[in-house]
Amino acid sequence: MYFVYFMSIFIANWKMNPVTLQEAKQLFNLMEKKIKSKNTEIIICPPFIYLEPLSKLLQVTSYKPQAKLGAQDVFWEEKGAFTGEISVTMLKEIGCQYVIIGHSERRQYLKETDEMVNKKVKATLKKNLIPIICIGESLKQKQNNKRDFIIFNQINKALEGVSVKKNQKIIIAYEPIWAIGTGHSINSQEAEDSIKKIKYAIINLYSLNLVQNNFQIIYGGSVDSTNIKSFIDQSTIDGVLVGGASLKIDEVVKMIE
Ligand code: PEP
Repeated sequence: MYFVYFMSIFIANWKMNPVTLQEAKQLFNLMEKKIKSKNTEIIICPPFIYLEPLSKLLQVTSYKPQAKLGAQDVFWEEKGAFTGEISVTMLKEIGCQYVIIGHSERRQYLKETDEMVNKKVKATLKKNLIPIICIGESLKQKQNNKRDFIIFNQINKALEGVSVKKNQKIIIAYEPIWAIGTGHSINSQEAEDSIKKIKYAIINLYSLNLVQNNFQIIYGGSVDSTNIKSFIDQSTIDGVLVGGASLKIDEVVKMIE
């Protein structure tokens, strides 16, 4: 038996924030200045229009090599009459390496389906970008004891027909919808239990070797500096996806350090 070592992942999902590019650059520069740790892979996911200017900042400053950029969404077609959409190639061209896919806010407000998530995952892997696939149950589903069913279902649909090459990475973010943006994170044992279920679901689809080498599973939902350690301390949790707290520089520094 052997163990694969991954750096812990910290994904900052800025959502539709900050309101100006100037503020975005300021936050980005403060992160560069104040974060000393080199043991965490930091993936910053700003709104689309900030990706290019921030990518330029990454090139001109001596920003930590473990800092990367991710988009908050992508479209599955390469080009054409798809008003308002952005393709994988466009993201790659401006230095983006990761893409959040199937965030619950997109599923809820933009009616994104599991089928759409699946198409986006395939398009992303085809061009060698790393998908961050978000899954998780609603409060009602949890109360009706449907959590495991939802997890299996979302994983199976997101990864249906998806072949993963040896050198490709996939991140799965377990984000219970009722914990996102509410200030009520879940108990870390409960997160660990869900993540184990996610692992079983993936093992049903791929070889154990591939699951160990190519998949990372993280937790998201009201993570902040007071609770991050309880999640990171769980052996199956490879990192965190942080929304609200990722916009507060002091919180970010405390969480990463
Ligand atoms: C998120 O945006 O996926 C998220 C986890 O947000 P928050 O940390 O604010 O709950």
